[in-house]
Amino acid sequence: MDLKDLTIEQAHEAMKEGVFTSRELTQAYLDAIAKKNENIFAFIEVFDDALAQADKADEIFKSGKATLLTGIPFGIKDNILIDGKKASAASKILENYTASYDATVIKILKESGAVFLGRTNMDDSAMGSSTQTSYYGITKNPLDESRVPGGSSGGSAAAVAANMSLVALGTETCGSVRQPAAFCGLVGLKPTYGALSRNGLIAMGSSLDQPAPLTKTVRESEIIFQALAKHDPMDATSVPESLRENPIKGIKRIGVPRSFFAKGLDKEVERNFNESVEKLKNAGYEIVDLEMPELEYSRAVYYIIMPAEVSTNLSRVDGIRYGLSLEGKDLLEVYEKSRGQGFGKEVRRRILLGTYILSHGYYDAYYNKALLLRDKITGEIKKAFELVDLIMTPTVPTPAFKIGEKLDDPVAMYLCDIFSAPANLSGIPAVALPSGKTEDGLPLSIQFMAPHFCEDRLFDIGKKFETML
Ligand code: GLN
Repeated sequence: MDLKDLTIEQAHEAMKEGVFTSRELTQAYLDAIAKKNENIFAFIEVFDDALAQADKADEIFKSGKATLLTGIPFGIKDNILIDGKKASAASKILENYTASYDATVIKILKESGAVFLGRTNMDDSAMGSSTQTSYYGITKNPLDESRVPGGSSGGSAAAVAANMSLVALGTETCGSVRQPAAFCGLVGLKPTYGALSRNGLIAMGSSLDQPAPLTKTVRESEIIFQALAKHDPMDATSVPESLRENPIKGIKRIGVPRSFFAKGLDKEVERNFNESVEKLKNAGYEIVDLEMPELEYSRAVYYIIMPAEVSTNLSRVDGIRYGLSLEGKDLLEVYEKSRGQGFGKEVRRRILLGTYILSHGYYDAYYNKALLLRDKITGEIKKAFELVDLIMTPTVPTPAFKIGEKLDDPVAMYLCDIFSAPANLSGIPAVALPSGKTEDGLPLSIQFMAPHFCEDRLFDIGKKFETML
């Protein structure tokens, strides 16, 4: 079985026609994991019931009730809860936490008979862009093992890129699926905020988080999105389907906010972006220059709002309610020791920053100001969509960087998020698409953003762009 170019639909057809069973398919991925995971380290844990799950999928096929995701092997990021399995967000503090319920996206996948191969590595608590801050160790980029796979969903991306999983789920708070997709040559979709349920994700920034698929093709991203984009009463910010307006519209105009990314772009990223624009022009799309001055503040705003939400969300991981509990002479010392030793350095940095931002006296100066700017950014994006059908930027300013690079320079690491932040702050969907290679053969990527709930446009342009490569 050649796993390299296998897609969800091909696997589905093959299982339907009896070319191979879900058990055989799962076994093929387990074999690949056994061979490669020690080196790449995409998976923190491989589930011992993967074959049993596959047997159930084979039963569904026999009963004639199979859907496209039945029997499809998934890698699942370590911050998405699966009932009875550990979920640690790759953090020491949650090393021994076992989920007591299924995340809604997991529940949907289980109902369709998808197979979970294991939990994938990530940056500690989803904070980072390189999967180097995981408590369990670093993940290598399968396309160049001296480089990072991106992050925080680096394990999910590496699993798919190394053919250790057919597809994977990650999460997005600010680029954690698009950026690893870009570094590993994959398609990464960040859905509209409110499209997929956040119930059962280990929360990072609740106003930004979304579960998100990593796949080799746009069509696979679409299949997973369509299966998971259901209203969920368990998530108060899940949008009822009747309110998900998605005016059917042919794509004509693509907006390019050049002044937003003119500075600091890697030369090859820039060249590839310009070539991609030319390809789209030649295919008949009208390219419109956009002035979007507010976008420049996206990253600064993200690094205020996100830590504020992080400090609130992670307060429950205190050594009493959840997680590692170290003894102390009183409750305060239990908190200090457990959190001090349980969370990694970057996580502690953000909790401290967020607590400061939300403290009396600074709340107005930082948090409220960031909220105002978030509104402005969202307003600017909405206005742009009165002129264009899609907005296009590079996905990341550079190709995959070397392992060890940027690790001691948080500000350089935060730069990776520059093109991701607008979509998460405004809630719009965005997709990262492979767009070529550097001279050294590293993947390059472009990003399209669409209005709220217009994922269809991303799939449409994505499928067309795939044929232009
Ligand atoms: N690079 C982002 C950060 O460090 C990733 C966040 C995310 O999407 N989980 O905050």
